[in-house]
Amino acid sequence: MKGSFEQRVAVVTGGSSGIGLEAVRLLLRNGARVALCGRDEARLARAVESLQGLGDESAVLAQPCDVLDKASVQAFAHAVEARFGRVDFLIANAGQGRVASLEETQDEDWVSETRLKLMGLLHPLKAFQPMLERSDCASVTCVNSLLSLQPEPHMIATSAARAALLNLTHSLAQELVRKRIRVNSILLGMVESGQWRRRFELRSDTQLDWTDWTARIAAQRGIPMGRMGRPEEAAQALLFLASPLASYTTGSCIDVSGGFSRQL
Ligand code: NDP
Repeated sequence: MKGSFEQRVAVVTGGSSGIGLEAVRLLLRNGARVALCGRDEARLARAVESLQGLGDESAVLAQPCDVLDKASVQAFAHAVEARFGRVDFLIANAGQGRVASLEETQDEDWVSETRLKLMGLLHPLKAFQPMLERSDCASVTCVNSLLSLQPEPHMIATSAARAALLNLTHSLAQELVRKRIRVNSILLGMVESGQWRRRFELRSDTQLDWTDWTARIAAQRGIPMGRMGRPEEAAQALLFLASPLASYTTGSCIDVSGGFSRQL
């Protein structure tokens, strides 16, 4: 994969934790220069610290940025242009899920969940598109969820918003093919990361450690592989779709759910 990323620049939104941070690590190991963002400055600083030894310090640009704030995303894009002068790969990863049933979901939650999923892609896309259009191997790769095809009642608003995002990425793939930008997604099941760590801290059964707790969830949900995915497993699929290795693939998805998908 190395040859696909050398001299290239990737932007990873939500690159300060979990899947995004693993994608940043893998990109750096493969010779890319990487710009990452997240809202929490301290978390971003810790992430950058953890990247030491993975290459030249000048290969990393980290900037606090909320993907829902258009001005902040534009400022991030200006900083990336000033530092690297180009962008080849946009990885739209920033976000989180909402665990709530129909009864627990307020009107404003439907709106904010849909806004996060759609604008969390559209703001970065608009800001970075001019640079992507100048690349000879441009791609946009979205982190989406299997919930987009297989909704769960305990995550009802997230499922609906994920379906909207999947629909949008298919339209974008059609639209942007004319500009030579590929658009693809990964569809996740359950992946060990910051979101699950936070839920673990709030668990009712405090006797269970992380391994037992995640294995129990995987068993309860009926994940055929019997475990949650690891962030690096999601990152590997992301990098494949982002890279020229997937040069004839657009409007497509890779399932990263340990066999949980019931779709043919
Ligand atoms: P983490 O919580 O570990 O990472 C989320 C990252 O996104 C953090 O860097 C966070 O930083 C950033 N982020 C969140 N909201 C924003 C925002 N508005 N603007 C900029 N950055 C933001 O979770 P995961 O690695 O699990 O999540 C990555 C993506 O994968 C998310 O979109 C999530 O919904 C999706 N996903 C994850 C699944 C899983 O099982 N882990 C399943 C299905 C989908 P900060 O909070 O500092 O902004």
